Amino acid sequence: MTTYYVEKITCGACGEAFEHQACGSTNTMGYPDLDCRPALMQRYTMGTWVQRCPGCGYCAVNAGVFEESMRPVLAGEPYATQLRDPRLPKLAASFICSGFLREAVGDRKAAGLAYLHAAWCLDDANATELARTWRATAATHFLALLADNRQFDGEAGAAEAIAIDCLRRAGRAADALELLGRAKGRKGEPIFDQIFAFQKKLIELGDVAGHTVGEAVKSAEA
Ligand SMILES: [Zn+2]
Repeated sequence: MTTYYVEKITCGACGEAFEHQACGSTNTMGYPDLDCRPALMQRYTMGTWVQRCPGCGYCAVNAGVFEESMRPVLAGEPYATQLRDPRLPKLAASFICSGFLREAVGDRKAAGLAYLHAAWCLDDANATELARTWRATAATHFLALLADNRQFDGEAGAAEAIAIDCLRRAGRAADALELLGRAKGRKGEPIFDQIFAFQKKLIELGDVAGHTVGEAVKSAEA
C-alpha cells in the first residue's frame, strides 16, 4: 500500500509557495523491469518524484533548492516549449524539464534518470515514439558517464544494465551489443550475468519491448 502526504514547498527559483503530493511510504512486490523501473505499488508513485512550481515552471526533485547557473535554461524558450508540449503527459514534461536543468549544472546522472523516468510516463501513455526518443537521450548520458568510468548506480553492473536496456528499447541494437561486450565479465552480482545473457537474446530477436528482471532469471533457469 502507498501513502501520500502534502508537502509545502517554497520555489527556490521564484519564491512562490505551492503544495506537492509526496510519498509517505510504498511497497514493491515482484521483480523490477530491466531498466530498474520498480514493480507495483512503487511503480505508480512517479508523480511524487518531481516537483513543479506553478509560478515559474521550475521542475526538480527538490524545487526548494535552486542554482543560479540554471536560470538561463529555466528562462529560455526551449524549456517553456517543452514544459507545455501538448503531445506529452504533464508529468513526462516535468521530468524532461528537470533533466534540462540538471544537464545545465553538469549532472549527467540525474539528467539521464530524469529522461528515463519521462520515458516510463510515455510508456504508460502509449507514446511509443516519444518514449524511444527520450530513452535514446537518457542512454547518451549514461554512455558518457560509463566512458568516464563514472557509475550512476551503487552496484557494479547496474549502470551498464540500465544503459543496455535504454539502448535496446531505443532501437540502438549495435550500441547495446557493444556495451554488452564490455559489461560481460565485470565483477558484480551474478544476477547481472543473467540479465546480460537475457538482453543478448532480446537484442538478437529485435525485441524492443519492456521486460522484467524476473524474466531474465527464468530465462537463465530454462
Ligand atoms: Zn517558481
